[in-house]
Amino acid sequence: MQKIRTRYAPSPTGKMHVGNLRSALYEFLVARHAGGSFMLRIEDTDQERFVEGATEIIYRTLEQAGMDHDEGPDKDGGYGPYVQSERMKTGIYMKYAKELIEKGEAYYCFCDKERLETLKTEVVDGKTITIYDKHCLGLSKEEVEANLAAGKPFVIRQNIPNEGTTTFTDELYGDITVDNSELDDMILIKSDGYPTYNFANVVDDHTMNITHVVRGNEYLSSSPKYVRLYQAFGWEVPVYIHLPLITDENHKKLSKRSGHSSFEDLLEQGFLPEAIVNYVALLGWSPEDNREIFSLQELIEAFDYHRISKSPAVFDIVKLRWMNGEYLKAMDPDAFYEKALPILKEALPGDWDYRRIAAMVQTRVETFCDIPEQVDFLKELPDYDIAMYTHKKMKTDAATSLEVLTQVLPVLEAQEDYSNDGLYATLLKVIEEKGCKNGYLMWPIRTAVSGKQTTPGGATELMELLGKEESLRRIRVGIEKLQNA
Ligand code: GLU
Repeated sequence: MQKIRTRYAPSPTGKMHVGNLRSALYEFLVARHAGGSFMLRIEDTDQERFVEGATEIIYRTLEQAGMDHDEGPDKDGGYGPYVQSERMKTGIYMKYAKELIEKGEAYYCFCDKERLETLKTEVVDGKTITIYDKHCLGLSKEEVEANLAAGKPFVIRQNIPNEGTTTFTDELYGDITVDNSELDDMILIKSDGYPTYNFANVVDDHTMNITHVVRGNEYLSSSPKYVRLYQAFGWEVPVYIHLPLITDENHKKLSKRSGHSSFEDLLEQGFLPEAIVNYVALLGWSPEDNREIFSLQELIEAFDYHRISKSPAVFDIVKLRWMNGEYLKAMDPDAFYEKALPILKEALPGDWDYRRIAAMVQTRVETFCDIPEQVDFLKELPDYDIAMYTHKKMKTDAATSLEVLTQVLPVLEAQEDYSNDGLYATLLKVIEEKGCKNGYLMWPIRTAVSGKQTTPGGATELMELLGKEESLRRIRVGIEKLQNA
């Protein structure tokens, strides 16, 4: 059997957005699942869209996401060059374009802008599509040669007959048949001598022995034209897998323009690369058992591309946050501490037991960026509302809380040992003496020392962190608030 070869073929036009990341990941998984190889090809033939530094972002993202490529501009596998502008210099695209001209499958076009603008236009999906009228197909060989000799600017167009149909097969969408009359004689070589993406992707996928092409379904409608090129050359068509659309929560197409996240933005928002990769894998694919948490290795094992869905996938940040939280919970405590430390130091400058605090927040945050809001109250008691003292289940309210705080204040003033255990033992005695429920006593204390509804630890843990002086000050503030109410 032929070895599976896939490629991720980004155009270096900016950051790697979720959709790009998914294409890369699926290409990677299709290859790895089958023991094949995964190649990186840089498609930089559109010089106008080229963005400085974008290629570096691609390398960095693939590396951080753990998608190591077997071949690419930095790793020769015998199919180079792996950058289209460099491939162009070898003359490969022109050579194949001329071969098509010989076969009558392509032709020189010398039409200028003005003429093209007068051609009839069609509006499809809000975009204006000009179907070229084959004017230059009618030029005689002599006319073409004279134009070329005179240095007249030209493009090379694909020659698609006006009659008949073209059928191509997508693994997910099945057979798709289009009328040839709907297909434009697309440009293969531009007037600057560069190939278009439309031409280069076919030449490259074939000459680089690519077996499976995985890409966004925005390419679905152009694929019949690519298939015609394969047929014209007599080449085998690769397996096509066009991926479903990714939408936002409002079912609108995710786009770079709508400010949707790139891999790097998500890292900045405190997400772990592993969690992002795991989440993105599920944007259009699901395993048989609907399991959700997968390491990259587990994805490689489970990834069967036949299970990719055709229905749009919704990018749901809430779900991603949940997943990231699961990864944080499962993280080795030392590794979590190390990553959390700079954030904790910034949120809580001073002399704090950071290791302890990291352990307390590890199970409570969904991203690293949630850490500051979890611990802010330690730095400064927030100005809270006394309604917080009321808790139905604990049977507490402002009056019971005032009574409890007033009663425990002298006990806590006398207490020397401000360790969690020491404090807990002391308060437990008060609880026993009063014959009340734990919460009846602990809820108001925790509220007073934190000023918050939810905290990363219980009353005595927080008091240990705050120390005696600050704990007592906060309890006195609480008593005062309740008295003045
Ligand atoms: N250069 C194209 C892009 O970035 C690649 C599409 C494909 O995978 O064929 O969208």
